[in-house]
Amino acid sequence: MYEYKDDDGVIIWTGERLKFYWLEHETFPEAYSVRMDIQKTKQIFRKLCRHFKIRNTQLTFWNRKGGRARSLAYGYEILVPEDCSFGLLCHELSHIYNRQRCMKFKHNKRLMRTLKRFIAYCKKKNHWRLI
Ligand SMILES: [Zn+2]
Repeated sequence: MYEYKDDDGVIIWTGERLKFYWLEHETFPEAYSVRMDIQKTKQIFRKLCRHFKIRNTQLTFWNRKGGRARSLAYGYEILVPEDCSFGLLCHELSHIYNRQRCMKFKHNKRLMRTLKRFIAYCKKKNHWRLI
C-alpha cells in the first residue's frame, strides 16, 4: 500500500493516486518545478481551455496559509494553490478534460496521456518560459 503523509502525519494520498503522482513528477520534473503567480496561472488556464475546448470551467485559488496545501478538480471547477506549479494546473485541468470528453475522472493511463498533451502544447508554445 502506498501512502503519502503531510507534515502533520495526515494521510492525503494512497494507492493509485500516489503512484500516479510519483510517475508524473518523474516524467515531467520541469513542469513541477515551475511555480506561477495568480496572474500567470489564470493566463495559462485560459490558453489551455481555449486550445483544448474545455468548457464552463471555473478556476479557484486556495491560500496555503489558510490550511494544508491541496488541489482538487471536481465537477467543472478546479481548486489550486496561489503558487500553483505548472504541472499541477495541467493535472487538474486534465481531470476536467477527461470528464467532459468521456466521463472518466481517475488517475489512469488516459489521464497521463491528456497530461502529456497539455504539457507538450505549453512547451511548444513556450508558455511556461514567460514566467
Ligand atoms: Zn488528480
